[in-house]
Amino acid sequence: MEANIVLLPGDGIGPEIIQQGQRILAAVAQRFGHTFQFESHLIGGIAIDQTGDPLPDATVTACRNAAAVLLGAVGGPKWDDPTAKVRPEQGLLKIRKELQLFANLRPIQTFPELVDASPLKREIVDGTDILFFRELTGGVYFGESGRSTSDGVESAYASMVYSVPEVERIVRLAAVAARGRNNRLTSVDKANVLEPSRLWRQVAQHVMSEEFPDVQYDVVLVDAMAMHLISRPRDFDVVVTGNLFGDILTDEASMLPGSLGMLPSASMGSDGPGLFEPIHGSAPDIAGKGIANPLATILAAAMLLRHSLGLEDEAKAIEAAVRAVLADGLRTADIAGGSPSIGTEEMGTAVLEKLQA
Ligand code: ATP
Ligand code: MG
Repeated sequence: MEANIVLLPGDGIGPEIIQQGQRILAAVAQRFGHTFQFESHLIGGIAIDQTGDPLPDATVTACRNAAAVLLGAVGGPKWDDPTAKVRPEQGLLKIRKELQLFANLRPIQTFPELVDASPLKREIVDGTDILFFRELTGGVYFGESGRSTSDGVESAYASMVYSVPEVERIVRLAAVAARGRNNRLTSVDKANVLEPSRLWRQVAQHVMSEEFPDVQYDVVLVDAMAMHLISRPRDFDVVVTGNLFGDILTDEASMLPGSLGMLPSASMGSDGPGLFEPIHGSAPDIAGKGIANPLATILAAAMLLRHSLGLEDEAKAIEAAVRAVLADGLRTADIAGGSPSIGTEEMGTAVLEKLQA
């Protein structure tokens, strides 16, 4: 396969971790006989510094023409002035919009070697492997909102709106992913109280019975889900939910593995390139030191192969290589728990060697 991959290193540790992600993708291409072309473009603070724009037009055009985009992180103290007109994060919001990325994918996976870093007991979290689909462009975050004052009392409102097509497209995406895993999908809503949730449930039920009768499907209320996530996370496989619930539940779930430097994420649309990135930020406190953990980015590269290029074996090869280096006891400082650690590049090299072996 030939594919054009755009790299958006961004700020802070972004360039260091993206470099490792690129090495791994290049090694996959070599091992499996693919041709990947890489192009780097500006986003975030560095783009503001060089062009005055957190998302220059050249970046948008390159991303639109790419098969997929691998992003590092944006932002840092240099651009933290909240009154500034242009801010690094605007670049990220805008590229998501330009590429019409309406689904945010977050795998929550624990690694047996790191499970003691979890705030929860090993017997609860060990073996957790959930893939969240959070709707990203609708719901209460984008509904009509405002304030009014009546009889001297000020109030504020925000409306939660979901349309049938908005629910259909994300449920379809999640159901397709479920087929690639264990054929199980859970939809999370608040249909006992909220009308948009009743629509969500009705549409999801319809899509599943009409188009995915082979996928085992169930629904859970969001309040119950918040409890289940920390009492029995292993019982869930693919989970699909709206913007607000997904925001809260994925942050809750990201605590289960106990290591930020290990978690990738993706944003996808119906067609066109997906955007793949680590869930952590630009980590300005360790930028330039060569100690950042590149594994979240390397696992994001695996997601890129799976979800944008359809290369499942290649994705699995990366994930197996990551598990193998962890099994060898190799650790960057953030996951070392006091034992000896290696740097960003050494970790990249270790994964590379497993891939080539
Ligand atoms: P955001 O920029 O998304 O708002 P944040 O500023 O809250 O995120 P991060 O930039 O993710 O946070 O950093 C939080 C802490 O985690 C920092 O101490 C940072 O050094 C550490 N950290 C984040 N990513 C990594 C990584 N890949 N390797 C090692 N440490 C990391
Ligand atoms: Mg940050």
